[in-house]
Amino acid sequence: MTTISPLIAGNWKMNGLFHSLDELTELAQLLTTGEAPRAVVVVCPPATLVAAVANQGASSGILAGGQDCHAQGSGAHTGDISATMLADAGAQFVIVGHSERRADHGETDAQVCAKAEAAIGAGLKPIICVGETEAQRDSGSAESVVNEQLAASIPNAAEHHDVIIAYEPIWAIGTGRTPTNEEIAQMHANIRARLVERFGERGESFRILYGGSLKPHNAREILAIDHVNGGLVGGASLLAKDFYTIISAV
Ligand code: PGA
Repeated sequence: MTTISPLIAGNWKMNGLFHSLDELTELAQLLTTGEAPRAVVVVCPPATLVAAVANQGASSGILAGGQDCHAQGSGAHTGDISATMLADAGAQFVIVGHSERRADHGETDAQVCAKAEAAIGAGLKPIICVGETEAQRDSGSAESVVNEQLAASIPNAAEHHDVIIAYEPIWAIGTGRTPTNEEIAQMHANIRARLVERFGERGESFRILYGGSLKPHNAREILAIDHVNGGLVGGASLLAKDFYTIISAV
């Protein structure tokens, strides 16, 4: 059986100014003075802070990630940022296809797939997000929705590169609500089965993160579920203490 080292990624979303780096400093202190974390620790701040997180996090093992990238390497795309630029700023990861981007910017699976491919091309590990709406879960179609997203959002290049899947039920993001442990177990087992179906043995090695109201109080039980190889944390990643508690729950 493949052993997968767990990973906890913080998604700061559109939060964070230079002064929030105090939280990063506190997190770095907690990580270096406490017991060494079992998880790989990633912080994905807004693009303006990626280089600062990469520089200041390095000595405490905090790795930096972006929150999105363009599918192309450079060119006339005002306001966008390429995977190459994120890598240049010191990022090692990038979130692609977060449900907020799929909703706010109408990103399709095909675009998410192209972004993931660009990320791989730039030497980044993409964190590819999938997840159903509440209506889709209520109507019993959560698995088929997620399976469609997986099929169309993961590039074939994953066969030879590391990609990370984040299962984030949209109705659990920022709401304080989570699926039951059984529902999480079932969805993660389903995702694992789809990855193995498509990528064979390699599919056993991809991390599958859970995201959506992952908090200090529920982290231990959720992160212990089979095929949950870490978490993608929004709100609770903004406070060093809370994020550290989640990291330590692995
Ligand atoms: P949340 O966000 O932890 O605040 O629910 C998770 C996410 O959107 O990645």
